[in-house]
Amino acid sequence: MLRFFDTYTRTLRDFEPLNGPAVGMYTCGPTVYDYAHIGNLRTYIFEDLLRRVLVFNGYAVKHVMNITDVGHLTSDADSGEDRMEKGSRRTGRSAWEIAAMYTEAFQADLRRLNINEPHVWCRATDHIAEQIDFIREIEARSFTYRTSDGLYFDTSRVDDYGYLARLNTEGLQAGARVEMAEKRHPTDFALWKFSAPEEKRQMEWASPWGTGFPGWHIECSAMAARYLGPYFDIHCGGEDHIMVHHPNEIAQTQARHGTRLANFWMHGYFLQIDSSRMGKSMGNFLRVQTLIDEGYEPLVWRFFCLGAHYRSKLNFNWEALEGARAALNRLRAAVLGWPADAAAAPDAAFVARFTDAVNDDLNLPRALAVTWELVRSDLPSGVRHATMGVFDRILGLDLLTWKPEAVAIPAEVQAVLDARALARKERRWADADALRAKARDLGFEIEDTPQGQKARKVT
Ligand code: AMP
Ligand code: ZN
Repeated sequence: MLRFFDTYTRTLRDFEPLNGPAVGMYTCGPTVYDYAHIGNLRTYIFEDLLRRVLVFNGYAVKHVMNITDVGHLTSDADSGEDRMEKGSRRTGRSAWEIAAMYTEAFQADLRRLNINEPHVWCRATDHIAEQIDFIREIEARSFTYRTSDGLYFDTSRVDDYGYLARLNTEGLQAGARVEMAEKRHPTDFALWKFSAPEEKRQMEWASPWGTGFPGWHIECSAMAARYLGPYFDIHCGGEDHIMVHHPNEIAQTQARHGTRLANFWMHGYFLQIDSSRMGKSMGNFLRVQTLIDEGYEPLVWRFFCLGAHYRSKLNFNWEALEGARAALNRLRAAVLGWPADAAAAPDAAFVARFTDAVNDDLNLPRALAVTWELVRSDLPSGVRHATMGVFDRILGLDLLTWKPEAVAIPAEVQAVLDARALARKERRWADADALRAKARDLGFEIEDTPQGQKARKVT
């Protein structure tokens, strides 16, 4: 049995795929105006665990992730500045350059955390035509109205608008005083924003409504429909999306396709630091690179996240991270002492208990407890080795291949790796070779593997 907590119904539901063994999964991706922080990455680790558990259960997952590279304003109430243009001013680079740079850095972080790459990456700016088409269809069905600064979605036209968030829209209407501008209802949101007459935006496009750019929510409805169809299995994101972004995605898709977009809605809870949310805009954020610079390997962060259920908030502190490192190293040392035995099979009872845990709404803390029991068990070491190999398909900690000499990658070597990943993507092979040589000068050998580059310290 496989079951997940569905935020839409607020219940644990047995998972049944909509279309046989194929499962469609859409995860809201990063806004690439800055680096991802370890809180964002907690959410992507949760989604990676979900995908691994689905695959473990025999499903063929198609995983789609968007890259928000336009239209996400500093305020979720459709006011303020486009975060990309703001990031451009902060860094002195063009909005297009910072989008490419932070996308690359994000993808490098995923690789460092053994997060499987989505099958489809889709950038908002590559799908302007799909978004315009989508808005046109909504407009034709009379779900929109125009103001002086854009085209808006009229949420009062959807009967159960905000059901996902359990919003009391009447209460909101009565309580609304600020931030309405020309909006008719507080929950209405922009589908298309016009470029302001006095401003020259770096990212803008012609549209039937005027030159401008798409609102933040439309990209997900449009790209999900393009790659997964109008109704698919699972949609996920962080808990902040329960209130605004996901209700808006649902409203748009209901208006155009009459579906609620996804059968399951799943949300990862926040990473907190000093009891408040870690946020890109809050100046309290730590990156994977920050942890590395402090001497922690990225997989320590993955292991830290496995210790808490995805539906509970998790507090960061350095002592707890140190505890995670010590525990991970104990686990590795144990596995190192179990030589592989080709004749040994995984222990069925242990695999069944581990499977029960992960299939019960991704109960990784319980799965880890089973893992420690395996370590302490008196099963033959070859059996323990084989069983751990099964567990690690979910845990993703490289437990069977770990070697004690594995070391953290220093920041300057990581910068070379990131630059080389970009060079390879852009087919600048000579640059890639020069960067490999540079890494060698810094004492690291780069290997290209199907999972991306791996750097090994030369001893
Ligand atoms: P953003 O790049 O801000 O659009 O966020 C990327 C993803 O990270 C989204 O799914 C957010 O819901 C999620 N997220 C943002 N802040 C946190 C946090 N402190 N802890 C966990 N997830 C977060
Ligand atoms: Zn989204």
